[in-house]
Amino acid sequence: MTGRRPPPCGKCQRQVLWAKTERGKWIPLDPAPDPKGNQAAWQDSDGTWKTRQVGPASDPPWDWEKPFMPHAATCKPEAAVVPARPRPANVTPITAARSLRGGRRTPAGRRGPNQRK
Ligand SMILES: [Zn+2]
Repeated sequence: MTGRRPPPCGKCQRQVLWAKTERGKWIPLDPAPDPKGNQAAWQDSDGTWKTRQVGPASDPPWDWEKPFMPHAATCKPEAAVVPARPRPANVTPITAARSLRGGRRTPAGRRGPNQRK
């Protein structure tokens, strides 16, 4: 990173810490260290953050590593992606359509003759 601000999270627009995994993939971490996080991250000499996943099968964080929470675990988009619009007057809600359905109901646990398995 050369002085430019790293891009924020694309979903919630919060600042995140981008770190490179052992497989060379960039993942967003919460910017503040979190002892409950499963990512052990450290800053390389060129300023790049690098991270590895820690768990029961791996080494615990070394002295030079700090635990971070993957941002995916805490990301909460502020606004819904698709805003809810009122239902048009000519659209029947699915719940009402179900209750108005004609025909005999099949007892629970038994399938009717026309139902596929
Ligand atoms: Zn986010």
